[in-house]
Amino acid sequence: GTGTARRHVVDVVPGDGIGTEVVPAAVRCVDHLAASFGFTVEWRERAWGCDHHRAHGRMMPVDGLEQLASADAILLGAVGAPDIPDDVTLWGLLIPIRREFVQYVNLRPVRSLPGIRSPLRSEAPIDLVVVRENVEGEYSEVGGRVNRGRPGEFAVQEAVFTRTGVERIARFAADLARRRSGRLISATKSNGIIHTMPFWDEVVAEVAGASGVRLEKVLIDALAARLVLRPESVDVIVASNLFGDILSDLAGALAGSIGVAPSANLDPTKTYPSMFEPVHGSAPDIAGMGIANPVGALWAAAMMLDHLGEPAAAARLVSAFEHVLRAGTATRDLGGTASTEEFTTAVVQALDEGA
Ligand code: ATP
Ligand code: MG
Repeated sequence: GTGTARRHVVDVVPGDGIGTEVVPAAVRCVDHLAASFGFTVEWRERAWGCDHHRAHGRMMPVDGLEQLASADAILLGAVGAPDIPDDVTLWGLLIPIRREFVQYVNLRPVRSLPGIRSPLRSEAPIDLVVVRENVEGEYSEVGGRVNRGRPGEFAVQEAVFTRTGVERIARFAADLARRRSGRLISATKSNGIIHTMPFWDEVVAEVAGASGVRLEKVLIDALAARLVLRPESVDVIVASNLFGDILSDLAGALAGSIGVAPSANLDPTKTYPSMFEPVHGSAPDIAGMGIANPVGALWAAAMMLDHLGEPAAAARLVSAFEHVLRAGTATRDLGGTASTEEFTTAVVQALDEGA
């Protein structure tokens, strides 16, 4: 070596269930790539999640966010367990990380992969990205409940859209659209939600206009239908927190399997670490069996490499797992018989062969 190798510090949170099985697969592939692409990764393992909660009453240590702050990126497996309520895992780990590190973009690429059948009848290949606003919008803490259990009971929940928040997500999406098809779809509902959504429309239109992409404003209901009927007509979608949440799962389901979908929580300014994770959860029904599909975690690791400034290694990793899938190697969720370990070994082999 020349002594000038690029070095990346990555905090790894394998978490629970199959998170602890797919994350080591990703680490193995990244280490393999590091050797051939001339960078090193310092992995700092964090044993946080539901076991930590059972032992200490919290998902991560009190100073967990401070520990993560010095990382270049965070690689997460999955957190969750049947005996721990969803809001504990969400508010105890995922949401604090997203907010503390201003990961205002949630990026979900969705693509047809070789060997995976879509539930749709159409064979048209899907290749799209959902850009979801990740820190404001409908998921706010503003609101309350009045007259609990009494006559006239009601609840109010306010959505919060700031100009800064909408501008920055629109700018990220427009930049991405410019590098892809030049087309951007904005999900809206300004015919029914008459304050926040017209504001969203206005700001997105300003940003898209300045960046020169072709903007199409589509009502969320029509967009949901279009994703099912003509997903090949969609490239980049920008959406608010709630709409993006729903569209991400819808689009992911169309591509065929939850086990292969990745997600990135990005601070595009790179002031703070960004977080990369497979979309799937801890999958308690198959945890410990060694049969989890590692593709979602591998793809998330590829997105991480891209973000860390290693786009060539990222592209190599994606083409390696695509090559393995095309060759017919598949885990049980895809109708195959390969174990997590066997699939990962095939990917490492494909990396060696330059696939
Ligand atoms: P959580 O509450 O942690 O989100 P969940 O059960 O709601 O867990 P998933 O963990 O995503 O959701 O699992 C949904 C289904 O998909 C389960 O039957 C699971 O076995 C299957 N599944 C999810 N991820 C994978 C994977 N990587 N490989 C194989 N099967 C998977
Ligand atoms: Mg779930």
